[in-house]
Amino acid sequence: MDTLINKESTEITEKGLELTSGFCEVEIQHSQLDGKMAKIISGAGGACCQFCTATFKQIHDPDIAKDGFPINRSITDLKVLFDEVNEEEFLSLSSDNRFSPLARGVFKWSPTSKRVSDAKTFVTSLIKDNLNIIIDIPSTQGGTTTTGNVVRRCLIRKDDNDQDFLYWVLTVIPSEFKSHIIEIHTCLGAILRVYNSSRRVDTEELALVCSNIYQSILCAFPWANVSPTLHKLLAHAPEIISMFNDGHGLENLSEEGLEASNKYIRRYRDRLARKFSFEENLKDVFVRLISHSDPMLLMNRKFSIPRPPSSQGLRSSQDILVNTLIRDHEDHNDD
Ligand SMILES: [Zn+2]
Repeated sequence: MDTLINKESTEITEKGLELTSGFCEVEIQHSQLDGKMAKIISGAGGACCQFCTATFKQIHDPDIAKDGFPINRSITDLKVLFDEVNEEEFLSLSSDNRFSPLARGVFKWSPTSKRVSDAKTFVTSLIKDNLNIIIDIPSTQGGTTTTGNVVRRCLIRKDDNDQDFLYWVLTVIPSEFKSHIIEIHTCLGAILRVYNSSRRVDTEELALVCSNIYQSILCAFPWANVSPTLHKLLAHAPEIISMFNDGHGLENLSEEGLEASNKYIRRYRDRLARKFSFEENLKDVFVRLISHSDPMLLMNRKFSIPRPPSSQGLRSSQDILVNTLIRDHEDHNDD
């Protein structure tokens, strides 16, 4: 295994493999790690954010958000993390209980939280009745029904006249919040589409949109919880794209491809593999998985991942925003 990691050519001696040259070279890259794995590897599992040292209270502060959150954590920061969580801060209940580390993950009753919770139940049932999208219900597979596909169906707007997620949300919210909701929905959808794509991104423009929308959320809805995931997306996505991915969207680092095979593994183990021994069972599953990722077969598969639009066919204000955030049409002009 060491020789494989060091990229040296190694003769394949295993029976059953036929390679024309008899040699195989493997390059192993750390990519497609999911959130749990990233937390374990970074050693920052207990922190609010794995990229910066901001606390849960600081990610809700509009003044700090205005200046941005530079990435200031590295993989060797374990000691700093231990020092951060000093006992005094941990045990003190701040004036606003929702920022106390002790309150994380614990439902604290307050008139606001009750109203937010009731409103959320109302909106999710409205969406379920009209669009048949089930949001935030525990699923049988572990986790909730709010999967990547559900988020895309809710946030991506193909046409401003569609009776989609945003249309139904706007029918029930007070009129003074409508412009904020439209702005947040448009920007979040556009950021998600750019972030999940493989296109070249105008990171300065993206940073501006992310910063504005972060401010908007904190100022228009001061009672709202900014989850660490939302903070990571809005505060760090532009820097990650420009510093670590050559200015391109992060589609190539998504763990979705990896996790998408879970359902096939389950299906193959259950229905298409021998059951008389654990080893034979796993062998059959791996053979199926290898043929499943065959490049010749993949070429014939039709992909239906929503892509950022081309400059023709912009039908929603979100399409137009996405178009200002991508720069790869400049690349095509160079060709
Ligand atoms: Zn952060």
